[in-house]
Amino acid sequence: MQITQSKSLFEKAKNYIPGGVNSPVRAFRAVGGDPIFIKKADGAFIYDEDDNAYIELINSWGPMILGHNHPMIREAVIKAMENGTSFGAPTAREVEIAELIVAMVPSVEKVRMVNSGTEATMSAIRVARGFTGRDKFIKMEGHYHGHGDSFLISAGSGAVTMGNPDSPGVTKGTAKDTLLAPYNDLEAIEKLVTANKGEIAALILEPVPGNMGLVIPKEGYLEGLRKICDREGIVLIFDEVMTGFRLSKGGAQELFGVTPDMTTLGKIIGGGMPVGAYGGKKEIMEFVSPAGPVYQAGTLSGNPIAMAAGLTMLNYLNEHDEVYTQLNQIGDKIVAGIRSSLEGLGLDYTVNHLGSMYSLFFTNSKVTDFASAKHSDTALFGKYFQSMLRQGVYLAPSQFESLFLSTALSDQLIGKILEANNVALKEIHQ
Ligand code: PLP
Repeated sequence: MQITQSKSLFEKAKNYIPGGVNSPVRAFRAVGGDPIFIKKADGAFIYDEDDNAYIELINSWGPMILGHNHPMIREAVIKAMENGTSFGAPTAREVEIAELIVAMVPSVEKVRMVNSGTEATMSAIRVARGFTGRDKFIKMEGHYHGHGDSFLISAGSGAVTMGNPDSPGVTKGTAKDTLLAPYNDLEAIEKLVTANKGEIAALILEPVPGNMGLVIPKEGYLEGLRKICDREGIVLIFDEVMTGFRLSKGGAQELFGVTPDMTTLGKIIGGGMPVGAYGGKKEIMEFVSPAGPVYQAGTLSGNPIAMAAGLTMLNYLNEHDEVYTQLNQIGDKIVAGIRSSLEGLGLDYTVNHLGSMYSLFFTNSKVTDFASAKHSDTALFGKYFQSMLRQGVYLAPSQFESLFLSTALSDQLIGKILEANNVALKEIHQ
């Protein structure tokens, strides 16, 4: 496989763009080698600048749930563009998409559109602080909520200590209001709540985290968080930027039957355009400007082209329950194939799976939180990734990411993925 065009583009890009990319994980630093530069995508495939085709298992980090360049989305975008690309004024489409989101996502009674998942989570925390009049919030170790300052925080030295800045540029003052807890551990939350009584505005988490690789909530965990938040007057925020409209029509909250106070959304909601949203209970969302005192705004928020793509996507998902059956079947087939391959080769690695999301962790211990995810052999993952890429399968370039499947994966392509997986597993153990 030749990647000469990608290599020369990357060399040139490094002169003008920090690290040669516009989002760090794209640089392949966690897996080695040069990133491939993408020219186009269609259905289950992406194509690089050297005209190599790859079967897609990331799907733009989640949005392309129906596969790339879906004719229905493409046509909606083209049609919307005929009437102009931005107005900076309200539109009928925004009302329609808000009504649809409220109908689909159990916790959402009112919703505000923004331009990214990062904006959604930053805004949700601000609103929760405004609503409760408290400053601190709890975040889980290994969960990602975008790059807002108060989310770029590492664990302090113990479960009940405050966090430290994880990136230069984030101040200690900001970090002190972010409290960190391990995922799947209700006792740790109880300790934090006791140590910070009456000071915690919100608890934010990915209900089914995908950003430390895929991890599944233990039975009763989400329900336990709900109870603690109710008891303590803490706003429970589910960050469903990844899981929203993916694990089910109404996201993880619908699947697990636990309703948060607020929800953040992104990815699928924009059908591949830059969109995010946050919503929740009426009485909380009424705090958002201009209804209430918490300021949040955006020149391009509710952009007509982005709304056309998102509305088309959500309408389709809302009317086609069979999408989720199909996605679950695709996930089941791929994961069953990987497990049988591992068994055949006498390997004992952990596969976490839910619906159309999965992660193969290169560790034989269970992965239930960030600490256990870090037992993975990331060098081995890097070799596996490179082998899959050479065989034409595009994975997330990091061990600590979930994969995202699309309905474009036919049985024939699933067969190819599993063949490549078997070859890769053999290759890396030679
Ligand atoms: N929240 C979650 C759970 C995410 O996975 C991401 C991005 O991957 C974000 C927030 C940030 O979204 P964005 O990259 O659109 O800013």
